[in-house]
Amino acid sequence: MARYLSRHAEEILYFVLVLFVAPFCTAFVDEYAPVFNSIEVKPPVEHEDYKTIVFEVRGRNIHNGIQVKATKSEFERGAECQDLNQFNYHISEIRTLEYKWGKYELRVPKDVQGNIYLCLPRKVEKDSGLVPSLFSSVYKWYSQGPNVTIDVPYTNLTGRGLSLQRRDLESRNTSNPLETIRITGIRLEKAHKDPDFDENGVPILMADAEHVIRIFGTGLTPSMVITFTASPENCLLPVRNIFHVDNASFTNTTVRVAITLPPITGDDETYYICAKDEDSGPEKVFILQGTSVWLQIKTYEKMLPLWASICVIVFCLSFSSLFSGLNLGLMSMDKTDLKILCNTGSSKERKYAQVIQPVRAHGNYLLCSILLGNVFVNSIFTILLDDLTSGLIAVIFSTLAIVMIGEIMPQAVCSRHGLAIGAKTIYITKFVMILTFPLSYPIAKSLDFLLGEEIGNVYTRERLKELVKVTTGENDLDKDEVNIISGALELRKKTVSEVMTKIEDVFMLDYEAVLDFDTVSEIMKSGFSRIPVFEGNRQNIVTMLYIKDLAFVDPDDHTPLKTLCQFYQNPCNFVFEDVTLDVMFKIFKEGNKGHMAFVHRVNNEGEGDPFYETIGLITLEDVIEELIQAEIMDETDVFTDNRSKRKRHAERRQDFTVFAEKQREPSKMMRISPQLTLAAYQYLSTSVEPFHPNVISETILRRLLKQDIVVHIKKSKEWRTDPANVIYDQGKAVDFFVIILEGRVEVTVGKENLMFEGGPFTYFGTQALVQTVGIGTVAHNADDTTHLWNESNTLDLLEKVKLESPSVAPSTMGSLESLNIDSLLRHTFIPDYSVRATTEVLYLKVKRSLYLAAKRATLMERSKRGENQTEQQFDEEVDKLLHSLDEDDALSTGRQTPRRKSSRKSQEIKENASLQTSPKTPSHYSAASPPHRLSPRDINGSLKSSPVDDIQVVGGAKDEEISLLPKRS
Ligand code: ADP
Repeated sequence: MARYLSRHAEEILYFVLVLFVAPFCTAFVDEYAPVFNSIEVKPPVEHEDYKTIVFEVRGRNIHNGIQVKATKSEFERGAECQDLNQFNYHISEIRTLEYKWGKYELRVPKDVQGNIYLCLPRKVEKDSGLVPSLFSSVYKWYSQGPNVTIDVPYTNLTGRGLSLQRRDLESRNTSNPLETIRITGIRLEKAHKDPDFDENGVPILMADAEHVIRIFGTGLTPSMVITFTASPENCLLPVRNIFHVDNASFTNTTVRVAITLPPITGDDETYYICAKDEDSGPEKVFILQGTSVWLQIKTYEKMLPLWASICVIVFCLSFSSLFSGLNLGLMSMDKTDLKILCNTGSSKERKYAQVIQPVRAHGNYLLCSILLGNVFVNSIFTILLDDLTSGLIAVIFSTLAIVMIGEIMPQAVCSRHGLAIGAKTIYITKFVMILTFPLSYPIAKSLDFLLGEEIGNVYTRERLKELVKVTTGENDLDKDEVNIISGALELRKKTVSEVMTKIEDVFMLDYEAVLDFDTVSEIMKSGFSRIPVFEGNRQNIVTMLYIKDLAFVDPDDHTPLKTLCQFYQNPCNFVFEDVTLDVMFKIFKEGNKGHMAFVHRVNNEGEGDPFYETIGLITLEDVIEELIQAEIMDETDVFTDNRSKRKRHAERRQDFTVFAEKQREPSKMMRISPQLTLAAYQYLSTSVEPFHPNVISETILRRLLKQDIVVHIKKSKEWRTDPANVIYDQGKAVDFFVIILEGRVEVTVGKENLMFEGGPFTYFGTQALVQTVGIGTVAHNADDTTHLWNESNTLDLLEKVKLESPSVAPSTMGSLESLNIDSLLRHTFIPDYSVRATTEVLYLKVKRSLYLAAKRATLMERSKRGENQTEQQFDEEVDKLLHSLDEDDALSTGRQTPRRKSSRKSQEIKENASLQTSPKTPSHYSAASPPHRLSPRDINGSLKSSPVDDIQVVGGAKDEEISLLPKRS
């Protein structure tokens, strides 16, 4: 710090000196200050209530625009003039020259006389404390001393004064030839904006704006300058500026001058033109060119200063924009929209809608206020713009600005965000409503009176439907929801006759029908839960049968439908065809008459009395389908649409009628009731592995059950000894499977002869069907009586199959190759138990050959289903295959027959005898044989190569012909 002080000691000292010494130092001299050294005073000119004295001064720094003040108090030269405010004498500059000479005019009241001293300004330092002169300075007035004095003589002769002035002017005019300038007229050539004219045609120009006028006159010179004065008498008090003529446009009689006039102060004030030639010496004064109206110009002031105009313009434009936005935003939302938003909008929308609602409730008042406000700000905007610019520019610019900023932009924005903007500017809207109340409220009331109250958007059914449809995509509705809404809205337009199921398509039952297996299966197949019952003809519907009414009905009882109908007496509901769906829906909803109705109409066609004619039925499902515009599928429906009858693609339900069909066929075969067949079918397919649907398809199994496989053992007293009662004999080879359907059997097992009883649905001998036969087994069975060829043959064959068909692979279903091997490796199953009927027994006996045929048919069915084959083609194929297996079976039977006949029990013989069908000719067989079997090398499905075929040709046992063919018409 000490070092710093020592280094800068000199500067600091100087600074301190300046600070303290400067205020006491008066050495400051304003060398530019004006000074009058001498004065020459002209004689005073008397006016009505004042007099003017022109004086010329000489000195230094006398330049344009210096202010000179006058005082009656005498001060020494250089002393400050103290009492300037007492003397309100006006001194105006006439001319100055070369900073040395100046000519001024003093105007004093008429009664003033004696010496008048002059004061001039000088800049001095402001004395205000410690450091004044360094920072500021002011002007003060200093007296020019008693040598520069104007002696005003006393006079009271007004006329003399005037004549003096005139004389003075005349003397000066005559003394200078240039004073011959005479302006006789002016014309406005270019106005800042379109000028107005007063009643005398005097142009009224905008103050402080440049205008060009043309001067007409005589003695005009290029060095001529003009100015204007508000005084009609002389040019001693001209306006600030002087204007040089435009030399380019100069001629002796006319010239152009660009002028800028200050605003006039009084209403009546007018500017008069003054002119002089600048070249004729500094003492030359402006001469008034007359007071004729054609030599006058008036001015007017701009309404606002520029900055204020711009502010107001911006303000007006923003409000114009707000008002037109609000006009669209608020007025486009009617009461209904706001109510909807209040109830269903998002939280923000609700808030906004609630804010707007009370204001929007006064629709016309709001409209009038907004429009008034809008027009008001637009007008102000245009006027101000016009004030600032010329008319055309104002028009173009205001149009563009109002359209772009005041209309298009806000409307585009408010059409989307009107709600938010409306809510956020609600105070402005309210303020405008209050402001415009006196005008807008009466208008709004008259509009209310004339137009009626505003109701808001009301949506009719059609409009609502269309609204939902056309806004799909933008709204958040699913297609299904849109369908449901439009379906609901259309309910009233549709009649039951348009959606009902026609009477010819109705599944109904005859009153006289019997509820046997056939009928019940038909009912189940139809899939309907309510079945109309007619009497006589289908038009005459008398009652209805509900499926649940069948719960206690046993098809075996063959109960007449009539009995059931009389018991339940289900009522029928009839409606007319022109009942609309909404009414129908209401009836169904009430549920008094159920959910199904019959559609009828009065038929008065033709001769005879009119009568009721039933034309169809309609259910609740039909109505709901129309409501939701989609098909309803229940678990039992067969058709997707009740009118177009389009079939459903769903998995088909069990068709029990196939079991019933059998009954209608005349046959000598042993038959069991369809119910029992159905039960056996269900049991086999679900509980017995070899008959599982994976192995044997349901259709094939059904066909299998239709074969001649039923065996009936009559009741016999000597059942223990009667060989006819033996089903399986211990140690005796069998090739069939047995399932007991009715009656009881006794099973004796093993060497110890363990015994137990079996009843319905006990089954034996699955091994006879599916036993997997290894080479060893074949070898083991080689000596079996039913085996037709030796081991080496079998091995050869196996070898061959393996070589030619390497793809043989074990699977649940197996393949055709493995099946072929199976059939080739014919084996028998030797039970180690005996089965003997103890009562009358009904059982199914499925031979291995038939089983294999069924398996093969299933395989084929599966492989062919994939291909585009028609059902008929496929059935033909299956038919051929089954026949081939049939032959195979016949072959095996033929092969066995001689031995079996000798070895098996007479029961079997009896069976054969009782189950024999009519023999077929060999030609029939050959006709049934599929052509593809001809190739001896064909392994896949070929039986020709099999030695069995050779035997078949020889044997041809027709008594065991098997047909799994579907019963076709
Ligand atoms: P369900 O309950 O029996 O399936 P729905 O009331 O669901 O019957 O009707 C399904 C469709 O089936 C409807 O189109 C209806 O018109 C028709 N339908 C109902 N019962 C029958 C019938 N017995 N015969 C023909 N069509 C019917």
